[in-house]
Amino acid sequence: MDKYRIRPHTKVNLKDFDPNDASEFNGNKEDGKKRLAKLNAEIESLQELLYAEGKRKVLIVLQAMDTGGKDGVIRNVFDGVNPQGVRIVPFKVPSAVELAHDYLWRVHSQVPGKGEIVIFNRSHYEDVLVVRVHNLVPQDRWEKRFDHINDFERLLSDEGTIVLKFFLHISKDEQKERLQARLDDPEKHWKFSVGDLKERALWDNYMQAYEDVLSKTSTEWSPWYVVPANKKWYRDLVISSVLVNMLKKLDMKYPENKDDLSKVVIDG
Ligand code: ADP
Repeated sequence: MDKYRIRPHTKVNLKDFDPNDASEFNGNKEDGKKRLAKLNAEIESLQELLYAEGKRKVLIVLQAMDTGGKDGVIRNVFDGVNPQGVRIVPFKVPSAVELAHDYLWRVHSQVPGKGEIVIFNRSHYEDVLVVRVHNLVPQDRWEKRFDHINDFERLLSDEGTIVLKFFLHISKDEQKERLQARLDDPEKHWKFSVGDLKERALWDNYMQAYEDVLSKTSTEWSPWYVVPANKKWYRDLVISSVLVNMLKKLDMKYPENKDDLSKVVIDG
């Protein structure tokens, strides 16, 4: 999966990344789905271990264009995990109180505690994406944020949080199909927002903003992965694999009980 990881200080051009790529896992959907089921089971037990051990903190950042599949990843990759140890945090348009503070204020308060996995559905990266594309703050302010963000994520990492960031990369054509599917199916109308079309019209500006994010904020301590996301099964497989590899490397252990349980007898 390493080929999807952006090396620090790499100038990223998203045209070099094929959203249709399915070159790993034999490129076969049926095999892929079986593999995903196995990875799911592994994530379930590794998360249980992480929670029981109560030492590590894991932050997963999901960013994508509309219809990019963030919700699908949350449903499929984390299917079956114990909800007690996993928290999903969506970041929407900031409230008045949030806007009255610096942009990392609402973010820092949501990072994982020990034993927890937190998934950011959108994140502080919106503050250099939508904010930049819509000129919500002047350039001389958002430009400085890449450094703030690298420093913030370094702080998290130095204090024991593992940070993984995924950009779900879909093509503009694929987005059209997914939006059309939402329009065509009355049960999907709730997911359709006319506002999404305005964002779609700014596709190239967003790609440029994403390229800057990927070029400037993929670090040793907090890497970005560009996930080919036109094929949903492949997208889920890539993310699950990265996650399982990372969790396995932690070499976690169930905590010992402080009592000698070999002498314990349960009455009755
Ligand atoms: P989602 O698309 O993530 O499923 P919504 O449809 O509610 O959820 O969209 C959330 C919206 O909030 C997005 O348009 C996103 O760009 C916007 N948003 C998130 N963070 C910020 C921010 N810091 N400043 C402005 N808008 C933001």
